[in-house]
Amino acid sequence: MWTTRATELASSRCKRSFGRRASLFTDPYAMTLPGSPHIAYRDRELFIDACSLRELAARFGTPLYVYSRTAMLEALSGYQRALAGRDHLICYAMKANSNLAVLQTFAEAGCGFDIVSGGELERVLAAGGDAARVVFSGLGKTRAEMQQALLAGVMCFNVESEAELEVLSQVAVQTGKTARISLRVNPDVDAKTHPYISTGLKGNKFGVAHERAVATYLRAATLPGLQVVGIDCHIGSQITEADPYLDALDRLLELIETVEARGVPVPHLDLGGGLGITYTDEVPPAAEVLVSALLARIDARGHGHRKILFEPGRSLVGNAGVLLTEVLYLKPGDTKNFCVVDAAMNDLMRPAMYGAYMGMAACRLRDDEPTLMDVVGPVCESGDWLGRDRRLAVLPGDVIAVLSAGAYGMSMASNYNTRPRAAEVMVSGDQAWLIREREQPAALFANERLLAR
Ligand SMILES: *Cc1c(COP(=O)(O)O)cnc(C)c1O
Repeated sequence: MWTTRATELASSRCKRSFGRRASLFTDPYAMTLPGSPHIAYRDRELFIDACSLRELAARFGTPLYVYSRTAMLEALSGYQRALAGRDHLICYAMKANSNLAVLQTFAEAGCGFDIVSGGELERVLAAGGDAARVVFSGLGKTRAEMQQALLAGVMCFNVESEAELEVLSQVAVQTGKTARISLRVNPDVDAKTHPYISTGLKGNKFGVAHERAVATYLRAATLPGLQVVGIDCHIGSQITEADPYLDALDRLLELIETVEARGVPVPHLDLGGGLGITYTDEVPPAAEVLVSALLARIDARGHGHRKILFEPGRSLVGNAGVLLTEVLYLKPGDTKNFCVVDAAMNDLMRPAMYGAYMGMAACRLRDDEPTLMDVVGPVCESGDWLGRDRRLAVLPGDVIAVLSAGAYGMSMASNYNTRPRAAEVMVSGDQAWLIREREQPAALFANERLLAR
């Protein structure tokens, strides 16, 4: 199933769509899956919004990423409801999923973007996003990227070290621009109470150490090319509790008060991203609940007038997407059964890279007893597995949906084994758009050259 039809580029309606015909409440086989109410069985068929996933796989080929625009906007609306009526900006952390149509969706919904490279800035502009709503994060910005972002007029550089501050000031002066800056502070949130936080601890490569932050702000205020506009932190990813955020917030507010008492205003407060999603049985706080709790603390401490920024990535897109893959072969064995599928670690890195668990569901339920098996890809690495010890009733030709694959799926995909990257489809209700054509193998080596002899 490797076909891509360019004629499908325009939006088209799904034939086997469920409109009013069956509802989750009247269908005896209706069942939602962990993560998203937008991905559910109806009449033994798995649907995303009102589109049959099996039909999408047949039309667009596999492996195929499919995203629900409705689910993305709903995830965003949790943040928006909590922040309504307040000076704020939600900067979608686009490294989670940087497809232009995804960026367009969030730009049209009023979002800014959190970028980590010059390439991501080009994507924002190509998608119709506004540079004036972009924050530029990342601990290894090059001079060329700084200049590119200054000329584009980004809202703020989130600076991660004292050395970067000096270079940014030089580049700004050379470019004839002022760089608006925020310092990414590493709040060193207590590891004992919150051991899962991976980027907000001492000994981590990210951010300016908490105890260096005041001195660094005072230095920034003296540098010619810079204007201090805020403070930020980003304490980790897939965080499933509110406490670490509240701890980090307390430390940031203390710093703001100290720095402002020394005569340097720090107008905005950016609390980063990192809110977790449900892959299996995680129960992270709803964005609206978390943000409301943070705002209540901000207000209680007398900082309610500040502009507030968030940089959510995973929580906006993760549960909105699936990766569809066709079963190629079943390989029963003495100690293990294998289900060989046509998606691999190059399409979805998270299991191979982090040992991550991704939920899986057959796109059509069969009556057969489910079999325990490892779901593996065709790549020549033993690390190439998508799921271990899964119970599935599938036969060759069936399509499996890998769940919660909307974040850090396609954006981390590679061409290892000269495998063209998957196509991507966005759906909304019963409409489907091909938002990225499947790569062709010849394009993968088009920039390579034979030796001239
Ligand atoms: C990756 C990243 C985010 C988003 O993290 P999620 O866990 O996807 O929400 C936000 N801010 C910065 C600086 C990041 O690097």
